[in-house]
Amino acid sequence: PAEPELEALQHADVAALLPAPAAESDKYRRGVVGIAAGSARYPGAAVLAVSGALRGGAGAVRYVGPAGEAVLARFPETLVSDRGPHEAGRVQAWVVGPGAGDDAGTVAEVLATDVPVLLDADGLRLAARDAVRARSAPTLMTPHAGEAAALLGVAREEVEAARLSAARELAARYGATVLLKGSTTLVADPGGGPVRVNATGTPWLATAGSGDVLSGLAGSLLAAGLAPRDAGGVAAYLHGLAGRLAAHGAPIAAHDIAETIPSAWRDVH
Ligand code: AMP
Ligand code: MG
Repeated sequence: PAEPELEALQHADVAALLPAPAAESDKYRRGVVGIAAGSARYPGAAVLAVSGALRGGAGAVRYVGPAGEAVLARFPETLVSDRGPHEAGRVQAWVVGPGAGDDAGTVAEVLATDVPVLLDADGLRLAARDAVRARSAPTLMTPHAGEAAALLGVAREEVEAARLSAARELAARYGATVLLKGSTTLVADPGGGPVRVNATGTPWLATAGSGDVLSGLAGSLLAAGLAPRDAGGVAAYLHGLAGRLAAHGAPIAAHDIAETIPSAWRDVH
């Protein structure tokens, strides 16, 4: 029989993949996620990415970038560094790009590390394809249709009309796992194989900053050691469920999604 084109993560699959701290665990073993995001113009994207990461199960969140004050004001548990990614200390996975503006240097520096990297938003635009292809550790890219279209050099409508092939094509071109956001979320690996589809979300998730929360959440799961395909699939599942629980048929803001991740996590167990 032909291999299925799509597969959906089930509740039990997600439950089995959720990281749980062992009795002897410590914060480093649980995973340290680095967030390189935000700018003077968009400090809020950094705050939201950190919020997703803190609720995503990492033992610690390390932030580098110009929005440290805004991040600390909201989340005092964040380790804020005034150094670049390269000198920031132990990090097991990086999230780079939300609200990052034009800081191509930081994106290049993060891509040069040997730990998993999640590229989102401005980071997608600023990442050199060769630098992504040359990485020794996996990369997870999280575009929405507009960002995917820009990377593929086609119109947004073209991506929306053929989301499955767009995700696969992007994954092949970059040698990276691609999580394509939208009313459903697709996760395609560079080596091919069935594409994961997630439909736990709600249109109430279409709100500013929603994707920033997802990036931090998926980054935490990468830092905990999940493969990009699992980190992306589990993050989309929890983000969708959290949005649904938070919204309950009424409008939500992005920070509500992050605050509801623990409830979604409990529901999965
Ligand atoms: P971003 O555009 O980067 O803020 O990301 C938006 C987030 O909201 C992604 O996780 C999308 O999958 C999700 N989202 C956007 N629109 C919808 C929709 N109509 N139904 C379900 N989820 C959505
Ligand atoms: Mg976004």
